[in-house]
Amino acid sequence: MGHRYFIDTPVDSDHITLTGSEAHHLIHVMRAEIGDQLTLFDGSGNQFSAEIQQLKKNAADLLICEQQAIDRELPAQLTVATALPKGDRQKWLVEKLVELGTSCLIPLVTQRSVAKPVPQALARLERSVVESSKQCGRNQLMKINAPLTVTELIEKPSPETLCIVAHPEPPSDGKSLDKPLAKQPESNLLLAIGPEGGWADQEIEQFAAAQWHVLSLGPRILRMETAAIALAARCVFRDHWM
Ligand code: SAH
Repeated sequence: MGHRYFIDTPVDSDHITLTGSEAHHLIHVMRAEIGDQLTLFDGSGNQFSAEIQQLKKNAADLLICEQQAIDRELPAQLTVATALPKGDRQKWLVEKLVELGTSCLIPLVTQRSVAKPVPQALARLERSVVESSKQCGRNQLMKINAPLTVTELIEKPSPETLCIVAHPEPPSDGKSLDKPLAKQPESNLLLAIGPEGGWADQEIEQFAAAQWHVLSLGPRILRMETAAIALAARCVFRDHWM
């Protein structure tokens, strides 16, 4: 796929100037030269082949040669709402969710959440989204939503969205995933994962009252980021979506 560079303003003319950390990487790490070709994306869904016309200390003037509409998105929207894990595990979670094609991450504020989705943490996550998209070839950036509480989350989805909450102890009438996934193969999906301390009883009651599918991922307790990735992968890698 070659090296991909991200520009955070829409590419809407033939000549653009790459600046900031992306220009630094191109010039000082990759030691690019005038005439070199590269791939650029602006998060809009398109990518562009470009040629370096001029190099300055920390900026590169590029000629946009071709716009390529290369779609590496899922056939429907996959949104993952999750309490944030601590430290480096946040970055890992974001990286894997981007690779799997997640459209949107909603940081959840739950009764037992520890890591707070403060603005600096969210800005860090957005940088991870860009890094992962460069690597995996996505031309559309996974959106990082403003943090929501469980009450706000359950008000959000449209009625056609398939809503699933992961919980180690689903109620005895806990619904399986196969049937709803098969019945609504084209539906947008909204997945919710709880914090390390688990969902409070009241939160699970709220999900159940809003007709969410409460789903177990087996008898072992998974770290929240494992649960998020396992459930997202389960939804992505099925016949209708591949
Ligand atoms: N002690 C907590 C464990 C929380 S694990 C409890 O008993 O609830 C963090 C989150 O990961 C959970 O809230 C749930 O959303 C998800 N998770 C972890 N293991 C799971 C499993 N076996 N089945 C379903 N969800 C699981």
